[in-house]
Amino acid sequence: MQDNENNVIELDEVKEENVENVAEDDKKEDDGYEKYCMLCRRPESIAGKMIEMPNHINICSDCMQKSFDVMNSGQLDLSKLMNMPGVQVFNVSDLDNMIPKQQKVKQKKPKEKKEEPVLDIRKMPAPHKIKASLDEYVVGQEYAKKAISVAVYNHYKRVATDTMDEIEIEKSNMLMIGPTGCGKTYLVKTLARLLDVPLAITDATSLTEAGYIGDDIESVVSKLLAAADNDVEKAERGIIFIDEIDKIAKKKNTNQRDVSGESVQQGMLKLLEGSEVEAPVGANSKNAMAPLTTVNTKNILFICGGAFPDLEDIIKERLNKQASVGFQADLKDKYDKEKNILEKVTVEDLRKFGMIPEFIGRLPIIFTLQGLDEDKLVKILKEPKNAILKQYQKLLALDEVKLVFEDDALTAIAEKAMKKDTGARALRSIIEEFMLDIMYEIPKDDNIGQVTITRAYIDGTGGPLIMMRGQALLEQK
Ligand code: ADP
Repeated sequence: MQDNENNVIELDEVKEENVENVAEDDKKEDDGYEKYCMLCRRPESIAGKMIEMPNHINICSDCMQKSFDVMNSGQLDLSKLMNMPGVQVFNVSDLDNMIPKQQKVKQKKPKEKKEEPVLDIRKMPAPHKIKASLDEYVVGQEYAKKAISVAVYNHYKRVATDTMDEIEIEKSNMLMIGPTGCGKTYLVKTLARLLDVPLAITDATSLTEAGYIGDDIESVVSKLLAAADNDVEKAERGIIFIDEIDKIAKKKNTNQRDVSGESVQQGMLKLLEGSEVEAPVGANSKNAMAPLTTVNTKNILFICGGAFPDLEDIIKERLNKQASVGFQADLKDKYDKEKNILEKVTVEDLRKFGMIPEFIGRLPIIFTLQGLDEDKLVKILKEPKNAILKQYQKLLALDEVKLVFEDDALTAIAEKAMKKDTGARALRSIIEEFMLDIMYEIPKDDNIGQVTITRAYIDGTGGPLIMMRGQALLEQK
C-alpha cells in the first residue's frame, strides 16, 4: 500500500513537473535526437549550434550565412526552395492570377534608347572628323564643308568652355552665299542631324519688323524652342538657319518705310549677338495665350544663306575697276568671264548689295558654295549615304527586284536637271517621274528579277530592260 502511495506521489510529482515543463517542451525538442540542419543535413555536433526557426526548423549558421549572401546578391531561386523536403511554398504565380487584369496598372514600355549622335558636341570632334561625316552626305562644296566644320568646332568649344569673359572668342555666325539648289539648307540640316542639336529654318522674307503683318523676328527663337521640344537648355545650343537673307537687303531709292528690309536687319542685330528673348512655349505667335519663357541667344549658332543674285556683277565691277587703274592696269573686262567669281566676295560688296555693315559684322564667317555641274549631279544621285538611287534600290529590293541604273541614264537625268536651273533640287522630281511607272508595274509580276534603267528610257525613245528571275540568275553566272 505504501508502495502504492509512493507511486501515486511519484506520479503526481511527475505530473506537476510535466505541467511546469509544457512550455519548455514545446520549444525544446529534447527527445534524445540530435538537431540537424534543414539545409545541409549536418547534425549539430558537426555543424555547430543551430539557429531555431518556427515550425521546428533548424538551420546551421553556415547555411544561414549562405542564404543571406544569396539574398544580398539577388540570386535567390525560389524553385530550389520549393524542392526542399518539408518546405511547402505555394506557387507565387497563382497569386498573380487571383488579381483581375483591370486592377493592374499596365507597365509603361521603356522608352527606346536614344541613338547616340554621330558627333557628340560634348566631346567635340576635330574639324576634319566633322567634315568627314559631312562628306558622306554632301557632294562637292569642299570649301564650304571645311569652313563650316571649323566654325562649328570653334563655336561648340566656346559654348562648352564658356570662355566668353576671358579672351572673348567671337561668335561663329555664318553667311553662306550660293545659287539655289546647291546644298545650303542641306548642309545645315545634315550638320544639325549629325550633332543632334535642334535646328530651326526660316525664310527671311517672312520676317517683318515687330508690329507689322508677318512673323516678328523673335519668332525664329520660338521655332527653335519647338524643335528642341520646349527644352530651353537644348534650344540655347541649337542652330537657326535663315534662308533667303539676300531678300532683306536695303531697298534702293525708296521713300517708304522699309519694314521687311533694312529694319529687319536692324532688328536681328541683337539676336545674332546674344540677347534674352521672350518666346512663347508651344506656339509661334506671342498673341496666342501661351506661357512665355526666356531664351538666351548667346550660344545659338546663326547661319544665314542666300543666292545673292547680282552680287557677281558688283564683284566684277569692283575687280575690273581695280584692274584697270594704276601701273598694273589690265584689261578692263578681265574678270567678266571668270567662273567662281563669288569666291572673291568682300564685306564691301555685300554692303553695296544692301546689307547694313552692322549686320554683316555679326556674321564673321562668310563663304560661298558653287553651282553644281553635271558630274556633281550624277554623284548626288548615287553617292551620298541616303542617295535617291539607293532609296529606290532598297524599296525594290524588298520585292526582291534588283534595280540597275546605266551610267548613261544617270547622265541623261543630270542633263535634264541642269536645264531646269534649280540645282540638285530638280533631280528628285525628274527621277520620281520615271520611277512612277516602274514602281507601279513591277510588283504586278512576281517573276521579274531585275530592272535596268537605260538612257533610251530617260530620253523617251525606249523602255527599261526587264529581266525575269531565271534569266537574271543566268546572267549573273
Ligand atoms: P539650297 O542651296 O537652295 O538651300 P538645298 O540645300 O535645299 O538647296 O538643296 C535641295 C536638295 O538637293 C537637297 O535636299 C539635297 O537632297 C540635294 N542637294 C543639293 N546639293 C547637294 C549636295 N551638294 N550634295 C548632296 N545633295 C545635294
